[in-house]
Amino acid sequence: MSIKNIQMVDTKNQYLKIKNEIDSAVSEVIESTQFIQGPAVKNFEKNVEKYLKAKHAIGCASGTDALQIAMMALDIKPGDEIITTPFTFVATTETIALLGAVPVYVDIDPDTYNIDVNKIESKITSKTKAIIPVHLYGQPCDMDPIMDIARKHRLFVIEDAAQAMGARYNDKMICTIGDIGCISFYPSKNLGAFGDGGMITTENDDIADKLRMIIAHGSKRKYYHETLGVNSRLDSIQAAILNIKLKYLDEYCNARYNAAVKYNKHFEGIFKTPYIMKNVKHIFHQYSIRVKNRDKMMEFLKENGIPSMIYYPVPLHMQEAYKYHYKQGDYPVSEEIAKDIISLPMHTELTDEQIDFIASKVIEFNSLQ
Ligand SMILES: *Cc1c(COP(=O)(O)O)cnc(C)c1O
Repeated sequence: MSIKNIQMVDTKNQYLKIKNEIDSAVSEVIESTQFIQGPAVKNFEKNVEKYLKAKHAIGCASGTDALQIAMMALDIKPGDEIITTPFTFVATTETIALLGAVPVYVDIDPDTYNIDVNKIESKITSKTKAIIPVHLYGQPCDMDPIMDIARKHRLFVIEDAAQAMGARYNDKMICTIGDIGCISFYPSKNLGAFGDGGMITTENDDIADKLRMIIAHGSKRKYYHETLGVNSRLDSIQAAILNIKLKYLDEYCNARYNAAVKYNKHFEGIFKTPYIMKNVKHIFHQYSIRVKNRDKMMEFLKENGIPSMIYYPVPLHMQEAYKYHYKQGDYPVSEEIAKDIISLPMHTELTDEQIDFIASKVIEFNSLQ
């Protein structure tokens, strides 16, 4: 029965459909023994550049590293302030803090859950160096006003596109609007590797040069180090896998979008379904709705064989490690949404029967409240 075995993300069945192609690409790298910065990496970088219509795409070891390396390339220094959202995965805040810079949060828009562009300017000080908008759940941030503010105040923009590769804002691919774009190939992302992986994009040749040096210990020529670097390369085997999967990325994004439309049909008028901005292509990395009695609902769903997740239960300004001078109540929209948001199974292999079943159980629990 297809309603059995519902998973939050089904990477296994996605793999089985293209198993032959993937397996032979992996074998080819193993046979070649060119594991570090081999042709598979160069090839994949070129194909991502084509896909995104980006000038430079540079592989690295993870989406988290992509963010750190991006800030290193822009010379972010201790004490610099970086404007970002408190309602996201920890990686943005973590990498800002690792560089000794300070995350300055701006609350989110209650409809899109992305950074509220109307609240950015009041947080800019003489120490502000960059804005990191995060395209949460696969929906682009409102980039035009963000770029206007950044230009006016001479700030860099680093797009955290970990959840949004393939998304579009107006006629532009996400990652090609800010100064630098950061992508994650974590297995559950829309373009997922079979391990960790990441990519950094830019339209600027000088920044690209620096990025390429930083990922390789700050050197262009082996054993000559021009700048502070790290060891963060995209693995050749992962690149070969991703190169195959890239061909299917649009198909994957469309499958997720269609699943979201089907969920919406069930939930219309009952829940606040995901708001989609007019000028974007949303790629539904997650499908999230706000519900009553969320934690009990998750238990009920689990009893019915339906997994669900909370992205994210604790906004970053309330995390033990990152309290800085923030306190509860500072970012009320993020705090409210963290209390009642729930993400339902969302992946490329969901069947109509599964979606109908999941939706019926969500609605059944809700009607008992
Ligand atoms: C997944 C994710 C990251 C980190 O990517 P990794 O590849 O897991 O290091 C960063 N930001 C956001 C918003 C993410 O969802």
